[in-house]
Amino acid sequence: MEDAPVREKPVLYIVVPCYNEESVLPVTARLFLLELEYLVSTGKISTGSKICFVNDGSSDSTWSIICSLSSSDVRYVGLSLSRNRGHQNALLAGLMEVRGKCDICVSMDCDGQDDISACRRMVDEYLSGSDVVYGVRSKRETDTTFKRLTAQGFYRLLELMGVEIVYNHADYRLLSSRALDGLAEFGEVNLFLRGLVPLVGFTSSTVEYERSERIAGESHYPLSKMLGLAFDGITSLSIKPIRTLSFAGVLFSVLGLVGFIWAVVAFFTGQAISGWASTVCFVCFFGGLQLFALGIIGEYVGKIYLEVKNRPRYIIAERTGEL
Ligand code: UDP
Ligand code: MG
Repeated sequence: MEDAPVREKPVLYIVVPCYNEESVLPVTARLFLLELEYLVSTGKISTGSKICFVNDGSSDSTWSIICSLSSSDVRYVGLSLSRNRGHQNALLAGLMEVRGKCDICVSMDCDGQDDISACRRMVDEYLSGSDVVYGVRSKRETDTTFKRLTAQGFYRLLELMGVEIVYNHADYRLLSSRALDGLAEFGEVNLFLRGLVPLVGFTSSTVEYERSERIAGESHYPLSKMLGLAFDGITSLSIKPIRTLSFAGVLFSVLGLVGFIWAVVAFFTGQAISGWASTVCFVCFFGGLQLFALGIIGEYVGKIYLEVKNRPRYIIAERTGEL
């Protein structure tokens, strides 16, 4: 019952990371504001609600668009990072900066792919008691078969590796102020927010939405970046790959022992061990396996290296409007 007063008319901040989005920003900024106005007019959120853009070191006119938006309306505010840090860091910057200023925040992409009107259902879920509301894609019809298959494979692989993740949820979500406070406790540099949020806990629910095509501009996530994100997701949240390698190590040691016994028996019973081909095959196979294992372990060592240095996750260079 303690939460009841807060759950009435919360202050909502919409956090939107933007990287080279000059072609969509003027269109979507208007749509975000319309949604905010709708929510205020229905009495669901407070009039102090705002939209916070995070310029992730864009090289086009994104930042000047954000500045002119914020001088045209106090409900638009902006942060500009000192350089491009990638979607996850830009989003975190926005979330951490609005923390303490709002009762709830919704993060969404700048390109109109996340159905903005799903926001109202997220707020409804919050009002009925959820601290975390995940936006979940209902269909993947707008995706190519390739993207659909790789995305499905990605979620399955994460599940297999013991990473708790909401199926078909990207970074469109609502967080309450206490969920934000919880997220702020996670100091890791290797960010994979959709894997971290379930670890924060609290009551959660999901809201389905249809993901549409980008309004304009191009995706910043080509296959190589997606694979990188998937790999980062696994190694940041699970040590199962290393454990699997240990089991493989034990298994192959046992097989090696059997092979050794067989060789000794064959030697003493006078049976010649045939050719070098089998030997070469084994050497190649185990050589490859060892390199693979070293690579995986190295990946974790690299992660430790980055975590230990504890470099700042983002640096804010400029601000516009009042948060
Ligand atoms: N983005 C960002 N920094 C980057 C790349 C992307 O802030 O380095 C933002 C981008 O402006 C968008 C969101 O992250 O608002 C998602 O990016 P994008 O639409 O390119 O990815 P996709 O939807 O194709 O996965
Ligand atoms: Mg997009």
